[in-house]
Amino acid sequence: MQITEIYKSLQGESTYAGLPCVFVRLTGCNLRCSWCDSEYTFYGGRKLGLEQVVDEVKRLSPEGGFVEITGGEPMLQEREVVPLMQRLLEEGYRVLLETSGERPLERVPASVIKIVDVKCPDSGEAGTFRMENLQALSPSDEVKFVLSTKADYEFAVDFVSQHQLATRVNAVLFSPAFRKDATGARDSSHCLIDPQQIAEWMIADNVPARLGLQLHKFIWDPAVKGV
Ligand code: SF4
Repeated sequence: MQITEIYKSLQGESTYAGLPCVFVRLTGCNLRCSWCDSEYTFYGGRKLGLEQVVDEVKRLSPEGGFVEITGGEPMLQEREVVPLMQRLLEEGYRVLLETSGERPLERVPASVIKIVDVKCPDSGEAGTFRMENLQALSPSDEVKFVLSTKADYEFAVDFVSQHQLATRVNAVLFSPAFRKDATGARDSSHCLIDPQQIAEWMIADNVPARLGLQLHKFIWDPAVKGV
């Protein structure tokens, strides 16, 4: 499979934020979100076999723990990535899959925790969520909406309500988008929409969702990759 990087850091998003995690970042994405902070994954990378990836994960985290399969869009390499996830589960790792929600998810092993995006209108990729993926969600999965405008927030609230998402998954996550050229200050000044504003809307609307910040962008310079 084509891999951009494999590294160990702290999980930055989801309900697992703050926990040590190995990241396996696959190359390539078929979407072009306006605020994408992973454009460096679109091309390049190196070809690694399943055993090479597993060996690197074991080297970085021999004691087990979390592994996140991410990208780019990892499910574009479904034929290779599904056996990889299965193997990592067999090796005793807890496996997270971060995906755009555009690719079919039916063949993801049941024990993998899926963190699935639903792209909002101002991402520029509205309507790419594969509605059949709602049936593939399990109670341990999480659904994430990255917000950059009030219109995105309103779309997310409607989607959560219409599909009763809070009853289907472990967590519904609302997260402010970061400016993709963010660098320097490790604070919310780089957010395209102020987290305080999202918080106030969520409180007023009593939304059954959790506000999430990208923890790594408050720990390291937002421009730093591989953390
Ligand atoms: S799906 Fe993810 S990697 Fe692909 S363009 Fe959007 S944010 Fe970037």
